[in-house]
Amino acid sequence: MTGVLSRQRELDALRVLLYEHRDRCHTQLRLLNQPPRDGAGTEQPALAALTRHRLRDLEHALHAIDRGTYGVCAGCTADIRIDDLLRQPAATRCPGCADAGHRPAV
Ligand SMILES: [Zn+2]
Repeated sequence: MTGVLSRQRELDALRVLLYEHRDRCHTQLRLLNQPPRDGAGTEQPALAALTRHRLRDLEHALHAIDRGTYGVCAGCTADIRIDDLLRQPAATRCPGCADAGHRPAV
């Protein structure tokens, strides 16, 4: 019905979620960068790298939302479903185009 309006509302809600997620990642990195107590585990560098990677994705997504280009498929220019964006904030293609991307272009 009011497709554009509700889409905008969904993106606004998603933006709030992404900001919260970003803040959590910042906090997590701060904790990971503290000097280890009593010989902490060896998985910290991997976890920190993963968190930094996620943080980069989130920054990209937030910038795209502010530019108004977020959630639009780079392949077919359709709106990517909010559910898919929640799962994959850095997605730039809808699932259909992402699948097609695995095949060589015609
Ligand atoms: Zn597409």
